[in-house]
Amino acid sequence: MNDVLTLANLVDGRLLPGRSSAYLDVHEPATGSAFARCPDSSSDDVDAAVLAARRAHPAWAETTVDARARLLNRLADLVERDLQEIAELESRDSGKPVALARMLDIPRAIANLRFFSAAITQWASESHSSDPRTLNYTLRQPIGVVGCISPWNLPLYLFTWKIAPALAAGNTVVAKPSEITPCTAARLGELSIEAGFPPGVLNIVHGRGPVVGQRLVEHPQVKAISFTGSTQTGAAIATAAAPAFKKLSLEMGGKNPAIVFGDFDCSDGNLDTIVRSGFANQGEICLCGSRLLVQRSVYDDFRECYLDRVRALRVGDPQNPHSDLGALVSRAHFDKVVGCIERARADGARVLCGGEPVRLDGRCADGWFLAPTVLEGLPNEAPTNQQEIFGPVVSLIPFEDEDEAIAIANATEYGLAASLWTTNLDRAHRVASRLETGIVWINCWLERDLRTPFGGVKHSGVGREGGVDALRFFTEPKNVCIRLS
Ligand code: NAD
Repeated sequence: MNDVLTLANLVDGRLLPGRSSAYLDVHEPATGSAFARCPDSSSDDVDAAVLAARRAHPAWAETTVDARARLLNRLADLVERDLQEIAELESRDSGKPVALARMLDIPRAIANLRFFSAAITQWASESHSSDPRTLNYTLRQPIGVVGCISPWNLPLYLFTWKIAPALAAGNTVVAKPSEITPCTAARLGELSIEAGFPPGVLNIVHGRGPVVGQRLVEHPQVKAISFTGSTQTGAAIATAAAPAFKKLSLEMGGKNPAIVFGDFDCSDGNLDTIVRSGFANQGEICLCGSRLLVQRSVYDDFRECYLDRVRALRVGDPQNPHSDLGALVSRAHFDKVVGCIERARADGARVLCGGEPVRLDGRCADGWFLAPTVLEGLPNEAPTNQQEIFGPVVSLIPFEDEDEAIAIANATEYGLAASLWTTNLDRAHRVASRLETGIVWINCWLERDLRTPFGGVKHSGVGREGGVDALRFFTEPKNVCIRLS
């Protein structure tokens, strides 16, 4: 057990084991071995964290916005100080290439903390004057204790995306990171103590979703839940939260279309972005374009250029700075994705590249590596093109014209994001407005301005995160009406 990293809960400013002292193994996807363990917490641990958060709330809600902003910034400074170490930990925990964690995940976690630190000092509320003697103004008050539940694919990135606005707005937080990738959230908890957050303001409880997550959702003193994860879990949370009329923000799965029109600019940079939009982070990003719709007039030429680039992607040890793809996050997820490829084959898909596990030598011999896989030949109604696979699997689908592209793109229960590639400006605007998604990228992908509303429609989401949308979610508006004599 000596070289296994033991994580702790953060409750009332103290790092504690779970009350039962039971632990869950945390695996390194590149090796298949357990390298850490996190508390297998119980509902008692959640209750203790909620109690601490309740006690801390009145004083935190009274703290000036400047003081809250300073603390969030100090936390950002500490993450920045330890960026290299935290990026290595994130890579080890999730299987993603360390270069990606260093360039994307951890810088974005720092940006989240800094963004909401600044945003809260700039936020203003509304006033409405009905006539010269009547004035309405809106107070935006913190909700109280809020629960933040995050997934494994972008662990610290999404964890901070929730806790930063919640804390900035004056709430106290009980947060539950994914039990599959809990390490960097635990590290953030330690850093929050060093930053000087008062005890009970940020609490982190590790453990299983149906135990810790569910108790958080059902706890009568938790007034709002911000959740990111699968649509299935989102539905369970919505059901459990409904009887108490809790405020909910749900960011869920996607089956995003990337649409390439015949007139697109096929420069190297654009082709690289289209490839990245399918395979970044092993395809384990909710925004990845797993359905690649290509206009028939350019389909054959595009396919060859695209496949050349996909075949050139290097699957390797996440610690190797030259690896483009690392390992899939868990054995269970690896088996699920392999099963999806087998299902696609059985349904008649042609596997144009990949389709098989990748065997590496040395320390990665037992890791969960999968070759980037491109399929074609399945109708849009096939399960492969309807169900979220969440791995390095892209399905090519030809289309004739704009109307057909839009019809295919919208014919899914999901509606998170879409990207479209065209040099025709009229078409770009026209198609963007007709796509049933919360986000549309035109000639780009994963460009993020943190002020913009982020989230999906249909089964991909309820509510929006980011900018003032997040601050609105984490506050309760109260209208005050004054009649002047
Ligand atoms: P998941 O739903 O299995 O788990 C997400 C979190 O919910 C984890 O912390 C888990 O422990 C917890 N949980 C599980 N059961 C629960 C329950 N009954 N009550 C409360 N909490 C519970 O999702 P995952 O496998 O960790 O993440 C992958 C999914 O997340 C994919 O579907 C992906 O599309 C989605 N995702 C969406 C976005 C977005 O912004 N829309 C971003 C990232 C990931």
